[in-house]
This record gives sequence, structure tokens and C-alpha cells, in this order.
Amino acid sequence: MSVRTRFAPSPTGFLHLGGLRTALYAYMFAKKNGGTFILRIEDTDREREVEGATERLKYALKLAGLDWDEGPDVGGDYGPYVQTQRRGLYAPYAWKLVESGAAYPCFCTNERLDEERGKAERDGQTFKYDKRCKSVPLNEAKRRIDAGEPYVIRLDMPTEGTIAFDDIHYGHIEVECRQLDDIILMKADGLPTYNFANVVDDHLMEITHVLRGTEFLSSTPKYNFLYKAFGWEKPIYIHLPLVMADSTRKLSKRHGDPTFEDLLNEGYLADAVVNYIALLGWNPGDEREFFTLPELVEAFTLEGLSKSPSIFDKTKLTWMNGEYMRRLSFEDFFARAGKYIEETLPGKDAEYLARLLHGRVDVLSQIPQTIDFLRELPEYDSALYVHKKMKTDEKNSIEALAFALPILEGVSDWTEPAVKDALLMGIANAGRKNGAVLWPLRVALSGLMNTPGGATEIAYLLGKEETTARANKAIARLSD
Ligand code: GLU
Repeated sequence: MSVRTRFAPSPTGFLHLGGLRTALYAYMFAKKNGGTFILRIEDTDREREVEGATERLKYALKLAGLDWDEGPDVGGDYGPYVQTQRRGLYAPYAWKLVESGAAYPCFCTNERLDEERGKAERDGQTFKYDKRCKSVPLNEAKRRIDAGEPYVIRLDMPTEGTIAFDDIHYGHIEVECRQLDDIILMKADGLPTYNFANVVDDHLMEITHVLRGTEFLSSTPKYNFLYKAFGWEKPIYIHLPLVMADSTRKLSKRHGDPTFEDLLNEGYLADAVVNYIALLGWNPGDEREFFTLPELVEAFTLEGLSKSPSIFDKTKLTWMNGEYMRRLSFEDFFARAGKYIEETLPGKDAEYLARLLHGRVDVLSQIPQTIDFLRELPEYDSALYVHKKMKTDEKNSIEALAFALPILEGVSDWTEPAVKDALLMGIANAGRKNGAVLWPLRVALSGLMNTPGGATEIAYLLGKEETTARANKAIARLSD
């Protein structure tokens, strides 16, 4: 049997991190087994659909490197892969169940259902449809449908006994039938419900393994009944534990937790996020932490999946991203960092700055704040001038800066090597120590404890005028 997995998002929003992880595991499992990874868009709930979401989901999956073997755009033998494009296909299956007595048309109006729902709520009960329309004889039902009366098709769930299924991950799960509602298979708008289309398509697309979030665990017994009613073989279910924001709540866009695209927009690298997310609920069984996508595929096993929820830890992701950033070649880094630099400091030597920043930032979005001191000298504490090892303090810094100023003023061709040569030469000639001059100068020019680059690089980037202005300003403030 060839493994076929699918990622089946509903286009109701962007690719959240739990979704990315589901897609990733479905992809990894298929690839590991030489199988097929399918993308199917479950868009039959028109009310919840967000415009443009399908395109965004596809775009995000591509950025993650999860190319689908079958699905929208690429096609395949089981298409179309967008459910609304398959709309005509579901009703005959629903009618098959009606004919066999496993389902029935229901004509109850929304008013009646709302009333019943209200009653149940007042009594503190969960609403369950009372099967009223089950007693409508089929030929009468067909007559009413032909006459144009709106209707849905409901699954006739047994009211006694239990229904069970085995999840590879969670084991044997048994549910009492009396808890189950007669779910709607076909809606009044002629479209299938998400549950029905999901089952029909998993069957028609010959999906062998369903990997999906535990939030769908509770609908699986109903699916089981559908498979039985059709006499179809069930796929193997593997429900994945939740991705949590902390120990109390699930990661969610509504609470401001980032989606995959948000992270990319914040300057995280797609490869690093994929690597981090893959390890959120799965482990390779050894100490390795860094994986390319092919390496993840190679290492993936279902046994490595964790049974407990995992917590998304942005600090850990940032650390991992930093490792990825440090491994980028300079060209690669500059290609990504360039726009952040140019946006913060238009007209500055972006490539020069990129060389200073390469290996120093964990996330690209840290670049603006890291170099903003070049645009405007930040407020700072004069205690920064105090450096034990360099033997500098606020007082002798005045003198060091007063020493450096004329040297800087004397540099005619303002390049970094020229600034450096002039300073180092002047320091050596005067028998001073480098640190005793360069430390106060770097503080005067940056107002920061840590900077990308040292005093001479910063002086070059600031230009002569700004450099001397900042040095003068520092002398004035220290002399106050
Ligand atoms: N369409 C469902 C979703 O939006 C997926 C359900 C499944 O994978 O079976 O996440």
C-alpha cells in the first residue's frame, strides 16, 4: 500500500503554527514512506471563508518548502482538489445513504431548531436533533423536495450502543452513541458540510493516513459511522496534540499569537521556523536539534510524536533562528538584511553595515533597533564611560575625547581605514593605550554598551561632521 496523506485546510485564515505543524508531519510521513502528499482545500463553509485565504495558505506552504504532489495548481488523478469545485459529487453519496436508510432528508426550519436549541439550553442540556423528520416517508420527502421545499440531509445515528475507533496515537476511543447528534451531511445550499466532504474525499482520494489536530478527535466517531454506512475502509487516524501558547491556552490568532507568515514578516527564516515547529511535538530520539527538511523527513517516525501538548516558546525559536542566521553566507545574509538596513538608514553604506551585522542579530527585525543609533544618538547614562579594564572613567574620557578630536578633524579622506590609521597612529605616537581612547570614543558616538562594529567603523558610517559633533557633545556633557 502506498502512503497517501493530505493537508486539508479550510480557508478561514492564515496558516497558524499548529496548522503548519500538521502539514509538516503529514508531509514528513508521506515522504519518509515514499508516498504522496496532497493538498486539499476544504472550502464548503462559505460563511467562514476569508477572501484570499486559499492563496495565502498555498503561498505559506511553499515558503515552508512543503510542495504538494497533488492538489490545486499541480493537479493529480484524484482532482479537483478544491471542494467547491467538486460540489456536484457529494449529493449522490448522501442519497446513497438515504436510500440505504442510513440518512434522511430533514425539513425542519431554522426557527424550529432554534426553539429546540433554546429549550435544551434552558434545561442545561446539549442540543440534539430529535429525529422528527426521520419519520417522513421517503416518497413524501422526495415530493416535497421536488416541490422546492428547502431541506438538509442528516445522518441517522444509532441511539444505543457505542461506537469506537483506534487512533494510532491515542489508542482505542469509544463513545456512547446517545451522545452523538444526527449530523448534517448536505446543507440547504446544496453544499456538503465540512464533515461529510472530508470523509467522502478522504475515501475518494485514497488517503491512507489522516494526520490532524486533536481538536478533530471528537468528530472522528461520527466519521467512523459514515465509513461503516458506506462499507468503506477507514484511513488510519493520527491525532496530534495541541500547540499551546502557555500551560493554560491554545495558540491562537485571536490572542495575538503569530501565524507562520507573521513570523516571516518579523524576519524569522522559514527554514528555522520549520525546524523549530517540527520539534514541537515530535523528537528524533536523539539529541539533534538542527534539521533541514530532507533531514526531518529522514528522521521522522510516528513513535517520536509526543502525546502531550507542546508550548510554543518564542525565545527558543529566536535562539534557533539566530543559529540559522549565523550560518548564512554573507551574500545570503545581505540579500535578506539589505532592505531592513536601507529602510532604517537610507543612503548609508548598506553592504558595509551588513558586514558588521552578519552573525550579530538573531532575527532580521532586530536590525532597525540595532543600527538606529547611527540615525540618532540615543539617551544614555554617563556611567557607560566607566570601564575597569580600559581604565576609563567619566573624567579621563573628557581628556581622551579631546585628544581624539583634532586627529579626527585632520582626516581628509573619510574612509574607515583612514580614520583607523590616523587614530591608531596618533595614539601610538602619544604613548597612549588604544582602549583608553577608543572605548570613550565608541560610547560618545553610539551611546551604547554594545554596537555592531567599533569606534572607527561607527565613525566612518556617521561621517566626519556627525562624528566630530557627537565627540564634542560628549565632551560638553561630561564637563557639566
Ligand atoms: N478542514 C479542517 C481544518 O480546517 C481539517 C480537518 C482534517 O484535517 O480532517 O483544519
